[in-house]
Amino acid sequence: MTELLYADDSYLTECDATVTEVRDGNAVVLDRTVFYPTGGGQPHDMGLLRWDGGEARVVEVKKQGPDVLHLIEGPAPTPGTRVRAVIDWERRYALMRHHTALHAMSGVIYQLFGATVTGGQMYPDRARMDFALPDLSPDKVQRIEDTTNRLLAEGRPVHVRSLPREEALQIPDLIRTKVNLIPESVRVLRIIDIEGIDMQADGGTHVRNTREVGRVRVVKTENKGKENKRLEIALDA
Ligand SMILES: [Zn+2]
Repeated sequence: MTELLYADDSYLTECDATVTEVRDGNAVVLDRTVFYPTGGGQPHDMGLLRWDGGEARVVEVKKQGPDVLHLIEGPAPTPGTRVRAVIDWERRYALMRHHTALHAMSGVIYQLFGATVTGGQMYPDRARMDFALPDLSPDKVQRIEDTTNRLLAEGRPVHVRSLPREEALQIPDLIRTKVNLIPESVRVLRIIDIEGIDMQADGGTHVRNTREVGRVRVVKTENKGKENKRLEIALDA
């Protein structure tokens, strides 16, 4: 089982860890990690593992049951080896900013139009989100962009907290984001709360304050069906 250090502190850029197992020659399992594995629309981190006498690039990271697999290039360190795990922070921080931007935007779209999110995907340089809305006029897009930017600029704190499932199921914001669809076996939920804007159960990494996101620009809209619209966003550097 890998301890997910990024879940408690998304600003950790490196950690010491021990190799517990190597699968298929190049998939390194660690006892703890700062590497985010692909999931929830957020792509995996890239980076390096360093150990006494060796170093390898981490090119893919995925979750397998309770373990995080770090797929590396070249020969793997043997089980028991102490390693230093280092992520590409520039890439991760960009993903964090885009992730928080999408959550903020989904809160705004719900507040303005009562529309719920049906999907989302982040990249280091852009992000997209689908939501259930029959029509998306240029005027609506402008209102979404303006409202999101006004709220982000207010510097709202982003809280990460754990809530017992039963408690989470009572919170209207979490009901709207379909918290009930999370498997029964998950008894404690990780909640991302962008103060006064959006609250969701989420496993991803986020910035601490909305000011870090900067300004959002809607760069593209797409009709993905009668009841489904897509917004693509970019952030001002
Ligand atoms: Zn999310």
